[in-house]
Amino acid sequence: MLAETTKKTHTALDRLFRYSEFLGYGDFHVKFDPATGLRAIVAIHNLNRGPAIGGCRMIHYQTTDAALEDALRLGQMMSLKAAISNLPHGGGKAVLIKPKVIKDRIAYLESYGDFVESLGGRYITAVDSGTSEEDMDIIARRTQFVTCTTELKKLGDASSATAFGVRRGIQAAVKFKLGRDDLEGLHVTIQGAGHVGYYLAKELQALGARLTMCDVNSTNLQKCVDELGVATCYPEQIFDIPADVFAPCALGSILNLETIKRLRVSIVAGSANNQLAHSKFGAHLKDHGILYAPDFVINAGGLIHVAVIYAHADIAKSNEQVGNVYHTLMSIFDRSERENRSTNEVAEQMAREKLNVVL
Ligand code: NAD
Repeated sequence: MLAETTKKTHTALDRLFRYSEFLGYGDFHVKFDPATGLRAIVAIHNLNRGPAIGGCRMIHYQTTDAALEDALRLGQMMSLKAAISNLPHGGGKAVLIKPKVIKDRIAYLESYGDFVESLGGRYITAVDSGTSEEDMDIIARRTQFVTCTTELKKLGDASSATAFGVRRGIQAAVKFKLGRDDLEGLHVTIQGAGHVGYYLAKELQALGARLTMCDVNSTNLQKCVDELGVATCYPEQIFDIPADVFAPCALGSILNLETIKRLRVSIVAGSANNQLAHSKFGAHLKDHGILYAPDFVINAGGLIHVAVIYAHADIAKSNEQVGNVYHTLMSIFDRSERENRSTNEVAEQMAREKLNVVL
């Protein structure tokens, strides 16, 4: 998108401002530290509800434009997720453009910690792709505005909180669509047996659901077979299996015209980010009589957990707030039905309404 807006007459900064305007920013900050090789971007989308919170991604990028676009896009998504989840936070995201070699990882992360500290609490950093709890411990030597440290992880794992939120979301969808309070005997297909897929399977199995799972990684899938006795299918079959619920817990952009036509389920509710290949496919799901639990609402459990643990170090409070994914989704389903609009459209609008309220 950032590249798409390119016009010969526009400088890189022009394009950056245009894209930021499009996403409703906010501010963004950059740091280059030649001593450690740190090239860091922090995108702060919105502070109306409180300090921005979001992960720190450290991966290779083809271009700096791609890194910047990632930071801006993901920061905006965090804002919507935090707002719809009623968190006292705005959205933010940090991107560290990973160099070929990091000579001294500790110095590199400390330099990033100094950067976060220099923002004075406007942004709270956390684990994301390419960073770990141990990395957060190093960052914490230089700033207090960091969560997901090894100490905080003792109070619970973000993936398991995400899975708990997805389970509560499935319960809400089942209640709304099928009028049932329990999951006993319901058939749920799960795409992906990774961190969230595994924990979700455990949650659902404990409530009597029947599970069919797939994964391209046979070790991950086998763990679910051995421990939970789930049925399996080939990854390419997952869209064709008749079931009550399909839970995408692997990849983004999996719901398109072709896959939606193949679905034989009443509900789509899973953890994967950006499940719809295009937002218009939310309406296609609705037209096919399939209730869709918007991804950024149902998968917010991990974010809610790290935010609550950062503020209160209280696991009971975290569970209570993650469990509220049920009620948030119910209000979205209700409004979607009342206004005859797709659930993803309604969820985004509700998040934007909450985002504009200064707490
Ligand atoms: P993960 O990497 O642990 O697991 C993903 C699994 O999907 C892996 O086992 C992988 O082999 C499998 N997979 C990849 N391609 C596949 C395919 N074509 N068919 C079937 N399986 C395939 O990731 P995770 O932490 O479990 O997250 C799962 C999804 O949920 C991701 O989209 C992630 O962005 C999203 N999410 C995760 C969290 C969290 O707390 N972990 C929070 C919000 C959103």
